[in-house]
Amino acid sequence: MRYVIIVKALLCLLWCISLCRIEAAEYRNGQLWLEVLLASGTQMSISSSSGSPPLLYVSERNSPISRELAGNLSIKLINEDKLAYWGFLNGTEPWTGESAGVLKECFAWEDSNLVIKRENLLYAEESFSFRENARRYALEAGIPEQRITPIPLINATVRITAGAGEYYFETPLAIHSTAPVSIGGVQLGYEGEFVLKTVQDRIVVTHLLPLEDYIAGVIQNEIGNNAPLEALKVQAVAARTHAVSLLLYNRHTSDGYDLCNSTHCQVYKGKYLLNDAVRAAVDSTRSEVLLINGRIADATYHSACGGKTDSSAGIWNGDPLPHLMGVTCIDAAGELDLSDESQARRWIDTELAFPGMSSWERASLTWSKTISRQALAANLGMKYVSRVVINQRGSSGRITDITFHGSKTVRLTSEYKIRQAFGSAMSSFFYIRGNYVPLRGGGAEIPSLSSNLIIRGKGSGHGVGMCQVGTLRRAREGASYRDILAQYYPGTVISSNWRNSGG
Ligand SMILES: [Zn+2]
Ligand SMILES: [Zn+2]
Repeated sequence: MRYVIIVKALLCLLWCISLCRIEAAEYRNGQLWLEVLLASGTQMSISSSSGSPPLLYVSERNSPISRELAGNLSIKLINEDKLAYWGFLNGTEPWTGESAGVLKECFAWEDSNLVIKRENLLYAEESFSFRENARRYALEAGIPEQRITPIPLINATVRITAGAGEYYFETPLAIHSTAPVSIGGVQLGYEGEFVLKTVQDRIVVTHLLPLEDYIAGVIQNEIGNNAPLEALKVQAVAARTHAVSLLLYNRHTSDGYDLCNSTHCQVYKGKYLLNDAVRAAVDSTRSEVLLINGRIADATYHSACGGKTDSSAGIWNGDPLPHLMGVTCIDAAGELDLSDESQARRWIDTELAFPGMSSWERASLTWSKTISRQALAANLGMKYVSRVVINQRGSSGRITDITFHGSKTVRLTSEYKIRQAFGSAMSSFFYIRGNYVPLRGGGAEIPSLSSNLIIRGKGSGHGVGMCQVGTLRRAREGASYRDILAQYYPGTVISSNWRNSGG
C-alpha cells in the first residue's frame, strides 16, 4: 500500500509538471463563473443541513471517474507528507497548451474587458520535499530566497467516507448537490457546484458559481435583505465592481480560489438570507459595474460616513483617485470644515434623525464609548498616557494622525490603528471629552486625561466611497440607484459591457 502511494505521488509530480491546472474562474455561456472559498482544513466534512442524509455527485475533474455518494461525507488526505514539493520559479511564458510547466490562470484588464490570462510557470529542475532543503540549496547556488515556491500536487489523493463506504479519489473533485449542505461544519446550507482540491497540505472547498449569484450572496449580508430596492441595487453594483477589481488583484490565485468569503474580500454566506428583493436588485442591474476612464473603478464602501465621506488618499495614503475624493452625504454637514477640531466637535454633537432608520443605522450615526486610560496605554504598548495631540483629521472628520505622549511617544497615522487603539471604536471620527487646546492647522491638544476617557463620535467604518446608511436614507427619500452611485462615486459611468466571453 505504501509503495502504491509513493508511485502515485511520483506520477502526480510528473503529470503535474506536464499539465497542472489551478482550477479557478471560467466563462461559461457568456457568464463569468468564479470560485469562492467556503472552508479549508486538514480534514473536511460535507453533511446535510436539513437532517436527511445528502446525495452528492462526486467526480474527478481530470478523469471520467464519477460516483454518487449518499450520506454525510468525511474527507481526509492520505498522503499528507507529499502534497507539495519545493522548487524555484524561473519565470513565466504565455500558455500555449503544449509546453511543459504549470498553468497559472489570472485575471487581467485589456481593452475595457476582463480577460482570463493563462501563463506557464517555469520551474528549475531541482525540487525538494522540504522547504529547508530548498533554502539551503538556494543559499549555496546563490538563488534569491524569494524564488522558493511550493509546486502543488494538485491531484493528491483523498479518502472519502460516506455511510459505511470508503472511496479514494484524486483531486480536484467536482461535487454537486441539489439540496443545501453544510461544509466544514458551517451550518449555512450551500447548494450547487463545489470544487474540492488540495493546496499544499490542506483541503480547500470552494463554491463554483456565476458572478451574479455570488453578488446576491454578498449584498444580503452587506446592507440587509429588507433594504429599499434602490439601495439594494446600489449595493449590487458596488459589490460587483469591488469583486471584479479584487479579481484583477489575483491575490488568492495561489490559494486555489478567486475570492475568500470573509471581509478580506467580501463576506459571502450563500443563499442564507436570499429573498425576492435581493434577487430583483441583482437581476435588474445584471453585469453592471462602475468604470472610470475605461477601467474598473475602485468601488470601496463602508457602513456610515457620519456626514461627509473621506478621500481614499487621505485615509490610505495612496495616489488620489478622482472618484474617491470625498463628498457631502448629509446636506447640513456640507457647510462645515470637519477637519477642524471645533467644527468636528460641533457636528458630532448635532442630533440627527431620519425617518425609517433601523437600529443599526441609528447606532452608527452618533455613538459614544468609554475606555480607561490604562486600557488605551496597554493597546499602544505604553505604561501610561498623559497627553494626546490630534495632528490631523480627514475631510470626513476622521482622525488620520495622532500622537500619544506618556511613558514614551507613539504616533499613529492609520484610521484603522487609531480605532483599534481606542478599543475597536466604530470610526476614527470622534473627540475625547474634556478640555482641549486648538492648534494651528485644525488639530488639537488634549493636555490632561481623566482615568476614564469618554469618546463621542459619528460614523462607522473607514468613510471612503459609498456610505450604506446614506444610501438607505436617500433610497427612502426616492433617489434612484444611478443618482446615489453618481453621488458617492462622482465621474464614474455604469457599464455592463466589460466581460470577455471569449476568454
Ligand atoms: Zn480575500
Ligand atoms: Zn454617509
